[in-house]
Amino acid sequence: MGKPTGFREYARQGAPYRDPLERIGDFGEFLLPVVDDQLRTQGARCMDCGVPFCQSDTGCPIDNLIPEWNDLVYQGRWREALDRLHQTNNFPEFTGRVCPAPCEGACVLGIISPPVTIKNIECAIVDRGFEHGWVEPQAPARRTGKRVAVVGSGPAGLAAAAQLNQAGHLVTVYERDDRIGGLLMYGIPNMKLDKQIVERRLNLMRAEGVEFVAKAHVGVNVDAKKLYNEHDALLLACGATQPRDLPTPGRGLSGIYFAMEFLLKNTKSFLDSGLADGQYISAKDRDVIVIGGGDTGTDCIGTSMRHGCKSLINFELLPQPPAERAQDNPWPQWPRIYRLDYGHAEVKAKFGRDPREYSILSKQFVGDESGRVSGIATVRVEWKTVDGKLQMQEIAGTEQVWKADLVLLAMGFLGPEATLADKLGLARDPRSNFQADYGKFATSVPRVFAAGDCRRGQSLVVWAINEGREAAREIDRFLMGGTALP
Ligand SMILES: Cc1cc2nc3c(=O)[nH]c(=O)nc-3n(C[C@H](O)[C@H](O)[C@H](O)COP(=O)(O)OP(=O)(O)OC[C@H]3O[C@@H](n4cnc5c(N)ncnc54)[C@H](O)[C@@H]3O)c2cc1C
Ligand code: SF4
Repeated sequence: MGKPTGFREYARQGAPYRDPLERIGDFGEFLLPVVDDQLRTQGARCMDCGVPFCQSDTGCPIDNLIPEWNDLVYQGRWREALDRLHQTNNFPEFTGRVCPAPCEGACVLGIISPPVTIKNIECAIVDRGFEHGWVEPQAPARRTGKRVAVVGSGPAGLAAAAQLNQAGHLVTVYERDDRIGGLLMYGIPNMKLDKQIVERRLNLMRAEGVEFVAKAHVGVNVDAKKLYNEHDALLLACGATQPRDLPTPGRGLSGIYFAMEFLLKNTKSFLDSGLADGQYISAKDRDVIVIGGGDTGTDCIGTSMRHGCKSLINFELLPQPPAERAQDNPWPQWPRIYRLDYGHAEVKAKFGRDPREYSILSKQFVGDESGRVSGIATVRVEWKTVDGKLQMQEIAGTEQVWKADLVLLAMGFLGPEATLADKLGLARDPRSNFQADYGKFATSVPRVFAAGDCRRGQSLVVWAINEGREAAREIDRFLMGGTALP
């Protein structure tokens, strides 16, 4: 805990954001650092609640020791706070920036007052650790001689690789993209997670002995069976990369893209040339419609704003969430409430309104004579609960056509691609994910394990880290007959 009376003395003060109109002029991070004194008073707000739900199963998925490091920060014992943080989280500099912080939704203080700024404190601890040179490569003392291949370099693959390397195994991570990092590199844009921060951690892992092979598409330009035969264990951490499509009339028109094509090309061009090579899909002077919300939709909005789009609308099929928790969404559950994320705030600052249109169904893409999309025909819908299930009904007379010459589809993902499952003969579950039980992570093929979004379906960075760490433990147990991995 922090200071016993801290939660009564100090108000919640989150990390400041750069001004929206200023930050859309570049791809630099939108969060500003928090000053020390402020962090210490925020740490002091952590109360002696007895049962810290923030680190329970409804809170932080990796069981971060939150009250302990809040207290250490309050006392100014930063280095010890960093050691405590690294006990449970391989990459706090990622979660401290991008995690939606279910811990804060479960914070006991949140019942009566705004919760502790747990995520900001996490980020500050690790940023300070890097600043002071406290985060150093920790190579394992001895090697076991066992070889493990990890397919996919997102947070699940990276967390597993870091843990398995610590256990002394020789780990090689194979990634089909030209840069390592999965969605940390090519999904989440630079303004949310600077890519130098990803590279910094990758360099540490390299120094610890993890090998990375980029442009290695297993099952395509790297033989999956050969990889299997050459290693003692294989971990598949290849993400949920199949996007959900919108197969309505007009889908074949040009100017309609999946969100990930838009985001990946943008970050690659940004990193290769500062966008000078023009090898990206530009939203400049375009009327943009983003279909679908969530992090992916918001990142499309933020990226379009930085390109200088002419207008921006965001369609959401579901109704607007309530301002406060609904009765069926009590504490300590994740609060399903209305939030203005960074991209929405930027549109509001520039165009004067939140871009989201709720309860709206896209019926058809409209095109011009050149075959390019020029608009979307929609209808409003209403949602009713019938037999405990939400049902959608179109509202007659609400048809409308919206102007758009760039449409970005951000409607989620439908599991991993089939290539690896086919090549290795893996069973898949009814949602097309690689079949492997949580806790065991073993697939239907001996010596092959699966973790992260390819096993659980599209999720969060913090869950990918959880699965990577847990799967590493199971692989270590399988290889050595027991495990000492945390
Ligand atoms: C645009 C976007 C924004 C997001 N923002 C957030 C956020 O702010 N906060 C948050 O918590 N979560 C966010 N998420 C979700 C989060 O990024 C994912 O849940 C997480 O990255 C999953 O980790 P993973 O390691 O399982 O897979 P991924 O990160 O998807 O990595 C899988 C990797 O495997 C590679 N791969 C696939 N097949 C092969 C193959 N055959 N051979 C070699 N390599 C292969 C892929 O190229 C990819 O690099 C976001 C997702 C998206 C799409
Ligand atoms: S990883 Fe996410 S849930 Fe866990 S303490 Fe950090 S912000 Fe909270």
